[in-house]
Amino acid sequence: AVSQLPRSCPAMEGTTPLLDAEAVGDLVLLDPLTEESLVQTLQERFRRHDIYTYIGNVVISVNPYQSLPLYTPEKVEEYHNCSFFAVKPHIFAIADDAYRSLRDRDRDQCILITGESGAGKTEASKLVMSFVAAVSSKGEEVNKVKEQLLQSNPVLEAFGNAKTVRNDNSSRFGKYMDIEFDFKGEPLGGVISNYLLEKSRIVRHVKGERNFHIFYQLLAGASPELLRRSRPRSVGGLGVEQELGGAMAEVLPPLPSTRTTEAPPGLQALRIPEPGELQLPAPAPLPSPQGYYGRDALAKNIYSRLFDWLVHRINTSIQSDEQRKVMGVLDIYGFEIFQDNSFEQFIINYCNEKLQQIFILMTLKEEQEEYVREGIQWTPVEFFDNSIICNLIENSTSGILAMLDEECLRPGVVNEDTFLNKLNQLLATHKHYESKETQNARRVTDTSLPPRCFRIHHYAGKVTYNVTGFIEKNNDLLFRDLSQAMWAARHALLRSLFPEGDPQKVSLKLPPTAGFQFKSSVALLMKNLYSKNPNYIRCIKPNDTKSAMVFTPELVLAQVRYLGLMENVRVRRAGYAFRQLYGPFLQRYKMLNPRTWPRWDGGDRYGVLLAGLAFPAEELAFGHTKIFIRSPRTLFDLEQQRQERV
Ligand code: ADP
Ligand code: MG
Repeated sequence: AVSQLPRSCPAMEGTTPLLDAEAVGDLVLLDPLTEESLVQTLQERFRRHDIYTYIGNVVISVNPYQSLPLYTPEKVEEYHNCSFFAVKPHIFAIADDAYRSLRDRDRDQCILITGESGAGKTEASKLVMSFVAAVSSKGEEVNKVKEQLLQSNPVLEAFGNAKTVRNDNSSRFGKYMDIEFDFKGEPLGGVISNYLLEKSRIVRHVKGERNFHIFYQLLAGASPELLRRSRPRSVGGLGVEQELGGAMAEVLPPLPSTRTTEAPPGLQALRIPEPGELQLPAPAPLPSPQGYYGRDALAKNIYSRLFDWLVHRINTSIQSDEQRKVMGVLDIYGFEIFQDNSFEQFIINYCNEKLQQIFILMTLKEEQEEYVREGIQWTPVEFFDNSIICNLIENSTSGILAMLDEECLRPGVVNEDTFLNKLNQLLATHKHYESKETQNARRVTDTSLPPRCFRIHHYAGKVTYNVTGFIEKNNDLLFRDLSQAMWAARHALLRSLFPEGDPQKVSLKLPPTAGFQFKSSVALLMKNLYSKNPNYIRCIKPNDTKSAMVFTPELVLAQVRYLGLMENVRVRRAGYAFRQLYGPFLQRYKMLNPRTWPRWDGGDRYGVLLAGLAFPAEELAFGHTKIFIRSPRTLFDLEQQRQERV
């Protein structure tokens, strides 16, 4: 087995990076395990620029906010085909493991990247993509595919990212991308799905933030003619984004059948040569609040539909017609707890609740499968099952989303108060639901819970949501005459974005609500993820000031909770904390027994070695290919004995 060690690995000598005594590289080995020791370990590692740490095969990444020499071609080489235990924890090790499992064991993979805004998710997803691009073959065709896949990033970021208080390049949409491979493991193409673009940014954003990058890029890079026609109020002071033009040419080559008269995104240069043309979009006099509502709804709809179109259009270019295996990369917003939480946070946190559910289920499933594969007795693990919270939100009859939909459909005066009343009645005794009313009934006084709010006890903590705006945001209605006006536009693309505006196809059915649509797409996503082999990257933001070398323990602790890391460690080591292939294990510890080192005296090496180590029987288990060690302490004991001899 020893001779099968991957070629490029450093010898299994010296300290295993995972077993670093002051700052273990795998938190499963943390002893004692407390929130405090966990955060301290991350802090110590961060100080040494070891920004990656494992929990088993989950990688935690702490944003360094500085460029570290971690992603050079030499690093790619070091991690390519390397053994997990012999090298420092790294995102490339996860990417390599996933890629090899896809290529050699024929298993579809998914890489789930979570964390709060600014924690490094998008950078991580790009690192995974470039690693896979670097280690897969380099034929001309394949290189073209890789280039297209990589270039889809700047295009989507231009339209979907913006500067926010938390992140100068914040993704304002969730993204899932399947990279498609052939049977040799060469990339063939890809398919992107997008989730919940923050379209409200089109009409307003908080002070200190900006609108989507594309507007500034257009101003900085558009031709004088386009600028004259679209009449921006101010130009200048913005860097030209040269990368974007090339990327767009790469992923949006004109399609013969759907070529429009103007190249996208000519939409923003809407031309109104005769004021008379304004008659159609402005047919009914409205009181100003509805007028503003209509205007904003139209702007938001145009932009978000354009974004969907863009994703669809990119897919047309990059999707391959044959595919054998896929690696899905999910880069999606993490759990959000703000001062004021509204419908958006509710939806985002629901998604994270689902991701946590699938995370626990899949980790358990994975553990269980490994034990079965290795022929080891499996003992059931106790864990917090958050189905009750998922159900509270998504149950199709009594869930909060269903009740919100019911309110949205009810004729007559609807407002959020009636919605909240209904929740209070139906959820009066639910353990994870709270509001002023249910508190009164339960005789709890809590001055921190304001009126017009309800509170959910999520797995990651309690979040108070203000119901104001829930109905409008869930309805997401566009006045019918506005969609008709858009459908009547001469601009082919614009027209195609509003098919429901065709008067021939007037439907009296209301379009599905925002909540309903999101719930359906999350359900699809979960089903998709569940069918794949999961790999996790959990991103952490070390400080609120985007500074290098600053680590704020309280901030990190909050994220450790949102990410459910303690639960993760517990589940991972409920059975056996540590496992390793026999070969490397024997190689490392053979020196502890005179019968196996310096010369092996014959007989069953493992039996002989382990007999010599004298551990209680329940501490070890022998799988078909791996040895399992129950507690971290035993492993440290072994290490210590080893240190004493070298
Ligand atoms: P998220 O997608 O989680 O909101 P990003 O991936 O956009 O966060 O990261 C925010 C910023 O943090 C990046 O623009 C970059 O400046 C920095 N950053 C993130 N990951 C790394 C990394 N691995 N190395 C160096 N800087 C990073
Ligand atoms: Mg991002």
